[in-house]
Formats: sequence, C-alpha cells, structure tokens
Amino acid sequence: MHMSLAIQCTWTPLQMPRLRPPSFGPFLLHSPHTNFFPSFGGIRSRITTYPSFMAAMSTVSTQKEPVLNEDEPTQKTLQPSQVAQRLEKFKTTIFTQMSMLAIKHGAINLGQGFPNFDGPEFVKEAAIEAIKAGKNQYARGYGVPDLNSAISERFKKDTGLVVDPEKEVTVTSGCTEAIAATMLGLINPGDEVIVFAPFYDSYEATLSMAGAKIKCITLRPPNFSVPLDELKSTISKNTRAVLINTPHNPTGKMFTREELNTIASLCIENDVLVFTDEVYDKLAFEMDHISMASLPGMYERTVTLNSLGKTFSLTGWKIGWAIAPPHLTWGVRQAHSFLTFATCTPMQHAAAAALRAPESYYEELKRDYSAKKAILVEGLKAVGFKVYPSSGTYFVVVDHTPFGQENDVAFCEYLITEVGVVAIPTSVFYLNPEDGKNLVRFTFCKDEGTLRSAVERMKEKLLRK
Ligand code: GLN
Repeated sequence: MHMSLAIQCTWTPLQMPRLRPPSFGPFLLHSPHTNFFPSFGGIRSRITTYPSFMAAMSTVSTQKEPVLNEDEPTQKTLQPSQVAQRLEKFKTTIFTQMSMLAIKHGAINLGQGFPNFDGPEFVKEAAIEAIKAGKNQYARGYGVPDLNSAISERFKKDTGLVVDPEKEVTVTSGCTEAIAATMLGLINPGDEVIVFAPFYDSYEATLSMAGAKIKCITLRPPNFSVPLDELKSTISKNTRAVLINTPHNPTGKMFTREELNTIASLCIENDVLVFTDEVYDKLAFEMDHISMASLPGMYERTVTLNSLGKTFSLTGWKIGWAIAPPHLTWGVRQAHSFLTFATCTPMQHAAAAALRAPESYYEELKRDYSAKKAILVEGLKAVGFKVYPSSGTYFVVVDHTPFGQENDVAFCEYLITEVGVVAIPTSVFYLNPEDGKNLVRFTFCKDEGTLRSAVERMKEKLLRK
C-alpha cells in the first residue's frame, strides 16, 4: 500500500503543513484568480505560501498521508510542484475543496452539485446487463451507435431538430470533456471568446488550455440579465465564439428568448460560433428551456453540450455529448479522439436506455426537485438570507451580507466551522472575484431530510450581525 502511495503522491514541502481547526482560515480557499486574495487582506499573504489547498485536506484523506516507509526510499524526496504555464493560475477546484471540507468537519454538504440519492433502477440494471453481455471493450470513438441514436431522438423531442447520429453527435466523458473538446477542437490560440460571469470553473481553464483570449461580461443580481448593450459593444468580427450556459450554474438564471434572439442575431451578423452548455435543461422550473440551436439560423453555428449526470442523478458516470453540424463536429471529434478516444462502453449502453425513459420520468424529476427547491428556498429566506430567484438548475444563490462576514470565502468558512453547512463561495466563478464577494451558492440536490437539517442548523446557529 505504501508503495502505491509513493507513486501516486505529488506532495511538496509546501503542501505538507497540516490544518489545525478551528483556524484553518488562512489556508481555506484558493481562487483560481491571482488577483483574488489581494482584496481580502490577511488571507493573501499567508495563502501564497501554500501552492495548493490540498494542504488543508491532508487531514481528510488518510490514504494520502505521506507516511515515511523504509520500502519507499527515494520517491518521497519532496520536489516543488510543476505545472505548465497555461494551468499555473488554476488550483484544486472549489467543488473538490468544499466536499473535502464537508467530510472533514462533518458538515452537511450543500456545496458540490451531486445528488445524495441514487439514479433510477432501470438505468443501473441496463449497465449491469451491458457488462454481463460482454460490452466491455473500447467503444467506437464517437459513441456506441445506440447511444448516438438515443441522443439524436431525445434532441428531436426537445428541440424539433433532426440531427444525424453518425455525423453530428459525439459522446464524451461527461460534459466537462465535451467542453474541453469543443474549445481545443475549435479555438485557435489568440481567438476571442466571450463568456458570461459568473461561469463554471472549467470554462476558463479549458479556454486557457486552448490559448483563447477571454472577454468577460458580468451578469449582475438580482436577475442576472444579459447586458445586451455591453454584449453588442464587445462582440465583433474578431470574436470566434460566445459561450453560454442555460439554465445557468451557479445562479439558476435561464436565458430568455429575447436574450437568446439578440445573442443569435449578433452571432450571425459577426459570423460567431455559440457553445451552449445545457446540462440542466431538464431542471427548468419557472420557464421553458430554450436551446440556442433551435433558433432560426443558429444550428449551423452552434455546439450544444449536455450530459446524463444531472438528469439521471448519475454524476459519477461521466457520460456527456456534443451535438453540432458535421463541419463543427469534425473539430470536436479531433480533440476528443486524443483526449479520451472513447467513453466507458457499458455505461453508454445504459445511457441509451436512460434517454429513452418515458416523459413521465422527466415530469417526476421536475416535481421532486420543485419540492426540494421549495424546502431550501423557503428555509434560506426564513434564516434571513436575501435569496435571488433561480429559474432552473439545482442551485440557488443568496446574499450572505446580513450575517456580517467580510466576503463569500469568510462566510463559507464560518458556515462550515460554526454552523456545519457547506456552500460554495461564488467569487471563484468570476474573472473579477470582487463581483462575487456577497454571493454564495447552495444546492438542493439532496434528500429532503438533509435539506431540512441544513436549514435547521442555520436557523439555530447563524446569527445576524
Ligand atoms: N457541476 C458541479 C457543481 O457545479 C461540480 C462538478 C465538479 O465538481 N467538477 O457543483
């Protein structure tokens, strides 16, 4: 065991210090943004000593303890961390950090968006059947034929668009890989790409890997509407792509038809592509989801990204896909071929069964989540948060300032240690972290008992200042 630890371990001297609760604050959070900590005074000077928040987590995972052992003589020689420049500014993802802290402090995890209940039996059975039936060797690179067909059937039901499963659908390892393959396959170094902050963390990292020049437009509370005039003045013939996410993580905002129409016409006018992350499309509560690809003239310039994880509560399966016209699918597939080549074969077979679920499955999913959402939103209001409206996703963003902490990171730290609940600080979703300092994100993809307990803890222990 120690032998294999020695091989996997990438500990460095700076990562060794252990956390001594309750004062883990100094090591708490690493924004991916180098300009984050300057604005938060004390935290910065100390945190810069620690290249990774993994330091704080050394007490969480005993498996990773760098225990000295005589059988592993030299591998433990501690070396400075190395990372290519394109990834230098990124740290351990905020979701990983917060989930590790939840375990460490026994806190209720309303941070990382994964359900604490299981996916449907019929899908799990289909996976077991596929494994038993010997569907265990490499899949075709761009997807097992049955899944490509199931994806195009589902897309037709959702959008009315008919796509060729062989030429326009690419199965990937989760939407995260679809995002990476899209960026790496279609963006050249120096290309301008417009993103809307707050944005999911992998966008910036993969754009950085592709060498893109990021142009960021900030969506602001209370409605997180798209500032259309700012978009008009930002987009130009130099723009290669606009990246959107609807329903939107972390805010729960859904892009309105008016916003999508304006983005569409600007993209057509300037010959710009749209990459649209729609993984929460089946969690649209307050309005109907609109796929950018379904707007007139848009399919031919749009890559639609989606996955199985959220809709079927199977986030660990990592089955995603990209739908795009053949000329854009070419780029996506070229990157995908050399990123992962193919995705887990039996799970793809099961994913095909999942996507053919009757409509009643989707209706029930939405009903269940509406009930969970009501518990959390009402609870958060009763606790005293200002809760911003969330139309879709399983997230809700609140203003934490009534509780007197200086920023979102400090608030989350306080919430974990003093209250026993985990939320996600939103400043990590912004290019300018100051924009997110009043906001934290909670998820309601947890069973009702867990949501109620979290609310109770907050009612009891969170005191207004
Ligand atoms: N999409 C999930 C969230 O926003 C996190 C996924 C991850 O941890 N990479 O919470």
